[in-house]
Amino acid sequence: MTPETLIIVFTALLGAIVGSFLNVVILRLPREGSSVVFPASHCPVCMAKLHWYENIPVLSYLFLRGKCSHCEVKISIQYPLVELAMAALSACLFLKFGLTPAFGGYFLFTAALLVVIMIDLHHYIIPDSIDLPGVVLGVLFSFMNPVTSWQSSLLGVVCGGGILWLVAWTYALLRKKEGMGGGDIKLLAMIGAWLGWECLPFVIFFSAFTGAILGITTLSILKKDRNSQIPFGPFLSGSALIYMFFSEQIEHFLHLYISGQWP
Ligand SMILES: [Zn+2]
Repeated sequence: MTPETLIIVFTALLGAIVGSFLNVVILRLPREGSSVVFPASHCPVCMAKLHWYENIPVLSYLFLRGKCSHCEVKISIQYPLVELAMAALSACLFLKFGLTPAFGGYFLFTAALLVVIMIDLHHYIIPDSIDLPGVVLGVLFSFMNPVTSWQSSLLGVVCGGGILWLVAWTYALLRKKEGMGGGDIKLLAMIGAWLGWECLPFVIFFSAFTGAILGITTLSILKKDRNSQIPFGPFLSGSALIYMFFSEQIEHFLHLYISGQWP
């Protein structure tokens, strides 16, 4: 095994362990007054405390065949999926940034986005306890971030938050009801803080585009009316993750497109 392969395996393991903690955050953060640290891991249904071997990321799910060993209730597939996603993203972050401060910073950013995606999907909210510290940390991180400058980060916060605030304000004015939650506004400010203002054209366009396509498809499949709510946070977060990994390629295409050389 080459040293690089060894580090890839190690970063994936780290991601899986952190993913296991993110599952707890996703479950407990939206519940008021419950701590993400106490009590120790337990089955959410029968409350039985988990043995260490029932708490191993991904493997325990397979070994328990997706059921609690005490009450046999089905364990959500979401648990191993979040662990696998964080493991894969962590390994990709190493391949992209190497073992640099950028790896550490964007590891935190990625973990926060995963939590936002899952909580928004379940509860249609984006907790302030994630996006507000996320904005501050993103700006602080920009001082040691080789990818963006602090100027770009601050402009990202102002423009990211400002653009969505304007969209929400206009929509509310025209339709006389709220279309976009304040959570989305703060989330885009946080994304701007971490990726710089340069990410905003792509993140806004791509999230709106994929959101519209997926929204129309699910609404027609589920036969819901068009006033049904679709969380926008997962689309913003997903677009931010894509930009984080492929910013050079995306900027290259945008440049060609603007200068008329493509298509
Ligand atoms: Zn149980």
